[in-house]
Amino acid sequence: MMDRTIPDNDCGKRVRGRNLDGRSLSRRIFVAAALELPLALALGCALRTQAAAGSDAPAPPATAPTVTVIAFSDAGKKTGPIKVAKVVKTNAEWRKLLSPEQFDVTREKGTETPFQNQYDEWTERGIYRCRCCRNALFNSATKFDSHTGWPSFWAPIAAENIRTASDISFDMDRTAVSCRECDAHLGHVFDDGPPPTGLRYCMNSAALIFIAAPVAKG
Ligand SMILES: [Zn+2]
Repeated sequence: MMDRTIPDNDCGKRVRGRNLDGRSLSRRIFVAAALELPLALALGCALRTQAAAGSDAPAPPATAPTVTVIAFSDAGKKTGPIKVAKVVKTNAEWRKLLSPEQFDVTREKGTETPFQNQYDEWTERGIYRCRCCRNALFNSATKFDSHTGWPSFWAPIAAENIRTASDISFDMDRTAVSCRECDAHLGHVFDDGPPPTGLRYCMNSAALIFIAAPVAKG
C-alpha cells in the first residue's frame, strides 16, 4: 500500500479496559463537593471554581454520551448488544496508557510501518479488540493475507462496533475505520477484498490487541 510516508515503530504496552464511567466520574465530583462544602463554610470562604487542567485540552465532559455496541466473549461468542459510556480521555491521559506508536495511530490517525508490525502475519485463532478500550473489532475467522504488510480482514466482528468516515488526507480518497466506543483510528477499508464481502479492512496492529480463543476442555 501507499502509506510508507508515515512510518512508525512496533508496539507493546497493554492498556486497562473501559474504566472511564460517566456515572462514577459524576459520583466522584459529588462526593468531593460534599466533603468540601462544610469545610468551606467553616472557613467562611466560597468554594473555588476549579481551574481548567491546563494540559492537553479539551477535557472530557462530566457525563460521556452512550453508544450501543455488540459485546463478545474472548471465545468470540456474541453476548448481546450493550449500552456503554463512550470512552473519552484527554490526550495526556491517552499518552499514559499507550505507547508512542499506539498513541500516534489511534489518537492521531497515524499509520504504522507495513510488514514490521505485530499482527500482519498472525494466524492464531481468537478475536482482536480495540487497543484503547477493548471493544471487540475482528474475528480471526475473517483474517486473510492481503500481502500489503498490514493485518487485513474481510469483515468486522459486528458492524455496530466500528464507524467509517471519508478520509481525503494525503491526496487519497479513502474510507477511515474507527472504534465506535472510543473513536480510536484503526485503519481504512477498501473494496478490493476477497469473498464473501469483497472488502478489505486494512488495520494497524498498533490499534489492536489479540485475545487468543480459550482452549477447549477435554
Ligand atoms: Zn476503542
